[in-house]
Amino acid sequence: MKIEVIEHIQNKNQDLMKVILEGVSIELANAFRRIILTEVPSMAITEVLFVENDSVLFDEIVAHRLALIPLTTDLKNYNLPDECSCGGQGCTLCQVQLECDIRTKNNEVIAYSGDLKSMDDKIRPVSDNIIIAKMGKNSSLVFEAYAQLGIGMDHAKFQPVCSVGYKYFPDVKIDNSKFKSEEQIDEVIKHDHTKLFIKKDGKLALIEKYWKGPDFTGSAEKYAPTGAITVNYVPNKFIFTIEGTGSLPIKEILSKAVEIFLEKLDEFDDQLKKVVITQIV
Ligand SMILES: [Zn+2]
Repeated sequence: MKIEVIEHIQNKNQDLMKVILEGVSIELANAFRRIILTEVPSMAITEVLFVENDSVLFDEIVAHRLALIPLTTDLKNYNLPDECSCGGQGCTLCQVQLECDIRTKNNEVIAYSGDLKSMDDKIRPVSDNIIIAKMGKNSSLVFEAYAQLGIGMDHAKFQPVCSVGYKYFPDVKIDNSKFKSEEQIDEVIKHDHTKLFIKKDGKLALIEKYWKGPDFTGSAEKYAPTGAITVNYVPNKFIFTIEGTGSLPIKEILSKAVEIFLEKLDEFDDQLKKVVITQIV
């Protein structure tokens, strides 16, 4: 197996990584995708106790909006509630308290995620600019919220990624001897919506690292003579794209997914050792 990072964007607006995964079957690639989506834990608000809420939104809607705010996650120091020694009742090892206390006077205020004050600096909103509610004059929004670890299989708010997917690595061959004239090449480039084809020294070519671009749609290929452009896909080689919510670094998401996968294999092996195989007639 070979892993090569071909793109990594990490700033306040985006957390995206593209890697080439080589030497794995599509089943294994899909297993990683599904584990990342549904089993890598992240923090989210699970409970809100309202003291005052004079905003235009009902308590339930504010609570729903709070739950969808991505929170930075510390997997080393927090337990999943089901696995905590408190039995899921809520303790400092599995729960974090966040508070909000906004009281307006003769002004209108927008309550943002940045107004949440966490009891643990490691667990806080990924962005301070997510709108919670709009507050009118002489109104209050006061509550205590509790965040816990959870997994996407239980609720999408726990997913550490916005999206994760993969596509086959393309393998394109161009046979310039099939073109009878340069006009035919121009015709291909004219109809190429993907902007992957170029003309170089009078011949049809592909842009550098064309596989980083969009998929081949066939829009240009059908204007080329038969056999001039052949698009195939490399078996067992994928371009994996992971877009995180910011709750966990993408490298940590991948490592955790591998750890979970290995735990599953160990569990399978343990169960297999207990199986008594008898001859069934
Ligand atoms: Zn606990």
